[in-house]
Amino acid sequence: MAKYQVLLNKALCKSCEICVELCPKKVFGRDKTGKAEVVNADNCIGCLICEEHCPDFCIEVREK
Ligand code: SF4
Ligand code: SF4
Repeated sequence: MAKYQVLLNKALCKSCEICVELCPKKVFGRDKTGKAEVVNADNCIGCLICEEHCPDFCIEVREK
């Protein structure tokens, strides 16, 4: 079972793709508008790279 919950505030996302590029587990994809979306939440290992690098503070990773 997934240990982490990945929360993404799309309203703040500016489609920079940093999270898509940096996540080592391919948790993020892009929706039709180009914004990031969580597509593989179960793969998250809780490294926090996404949370630390998103320039708009859209992402929060929580331990379940
Ligand atoms: S890093 Fe942040 S602003 Fe950039 S695409 Fe991901 S969620 Fe959106
Ligand atoms: S915490 Fe790490 S593995 Fe989980 S979504 Fe963020 S970058 Fe990917």
